[in-house]
Amino acid sequence: MSGQVRAQVDKYFEVVAHRNAGEPEFHQAVAEVFESLTVVLERNSKYADFGLIERLCEPERQIIFRVPWVDDQGCVHVNRGFRVQYNSALGPYKGGLRFHPSVNLGIVKFLGFEQIFKNSLTGLPIGGGKGGSDFDPKGKSEGEIMRFCQSFMTELNRHIGEYTDVPAGDIGVGGREIGYLFGQYKRLTNTYESGVLTGKGINWGGSQVRTEATGYGVAYFVAEMLKAKGESVEGKTAVISGSGNVAIYAIQKIHQLGGLAIACSDSSGYIVDKKGIDLDLLKEIKEVRRGRISEYADAVPHAEFVAGGCIWDVPCDVALPCATQNELDDSAAKTLIANGVQAVAEGANMPTTPGGIQAFRDAGVAFAPGKAANAGGVATSALEMQQNASRDSWSFEYTDERLAGIMRGIHARTIETAAEYGKPGDYVHGANIAGFVKVADAMFALGVI
Ligand code: GLU
Repeated sequence: MSGQVRAQVDKYFEVVAHRNAGEPEFHQAVAEVFESLTVVLERNSKYADFGLIERLCEPERQIIFRVPWVDDQGCVHVNRGFRVQYNSALGPYKGGLRFHPSVNLGIVKFLGFEQIFKNSLTGLPIGGGKGGSDFDPKGKSEGEIMRFCQSFMTELNRHIGEYTDVPAGDIGVGGREIGYLFGQYKRLTNTYESGVLTGKGINWGGSQVRTEATGYGVAYFVAEMLKAKGESVEGKTAVISGSGNVAIYAIQKIHQLGGLAIACSDSSGYIVDKKGIDLDLLKEIKEVRRGRISEYADAVPHAEFVAGGCIWDVPCDVALPCATQNELDDSAAKTLIANGVQAVAEGANMPTTPGGIQAFRDAGVAFAPGKAANAGGVATSALEMQQNASRDSWSFEYTDERLAGIMRGIHARTIETAAEYGKPGDYVHGANIAGFVKVADAMFALGVI
């Protein structure tokens, strides 16, 4: 039975690999979910019926478009825009937009595929999608960013809507970009359709806590992981890769929970501050100046800047990869394990390679995948949609409480599902299976579409 099911899952994977040639990150994301599916299909073969798995792997719609824009010197540039509307069995497509030179169709598909299960895990009525562009915001002026966003939305507007598809931010897309995108949507459609985008400013339809949500959520999640081992964040050292929105607010919440965040990074290297990262300074450098992480060590004499290098060489109790995909490989995982890491939770999407995940599994280190640990961002987006739909706005405290409750719920669902399927303590299998079963059951109910 088991061998038969594995052969069937391998066959599904072959079809995906063949049909989506040259998209390694997408293959990686599918392979990780398929690894968890064998045990589900063994228990309940109905999930192999009606082409369910083949349908789940094929996006409902993929939109690719030209984004022309004019720079400050009057030169025309052409970028490529994407929106992959992956699965709407549970609600309108929901997921961020990423502006980064590495963006291509395979990256957007891996992110969209992960988003289906992440969004399902939140327990909220949102489907999965993702989009973005190979536009590089680095070094661009305000005017260039605005004109790019306007051009991007000039095409995207015809594909989105509060009941259809609700984009938000991701790498390279924050409050500023959402503002320009929303402004252009409003102008083109002549509607103040607040629910069409999330991550909006607080005074024009945004939700409290949305900016902080992904980072706070990761910290809440890791607190639950430690609690399950009879431990807490109190007194623990944490290393957090990245220094964007996710990393910044993960650091803040780790500090609020009594831990000490001692290192963070950007693409140029990492800094170590053994006294704990000064968050005001980090925010000033990254959010106001949009500068490099080395400026932190310039300002703090006892801090150290390491150019290039691997942030996972820094010994810590808790590791939170919050930068980007495949930033933590098996050798980094082995270094963390040798240095006594107790819990690892992904703030970014798929930052750990399959070899890294296996190393944590083999060592018995608690490891939470992004689709569980970083779901707080999209969950709070769904809370923003709720507030928009009821023309209401909630307080910071109330929204934060809702977020904390959702993260506790995801932790419980993940760990219970892992145990139920004979994989106790395995957050990867728990998240994949719990996310999958809910979407799959909805897809059955809706027929072959
Ligand atoms: N980009 C975030 C994620 O990876 C948030 C998406 C959203 O809020 O729609 O989940």
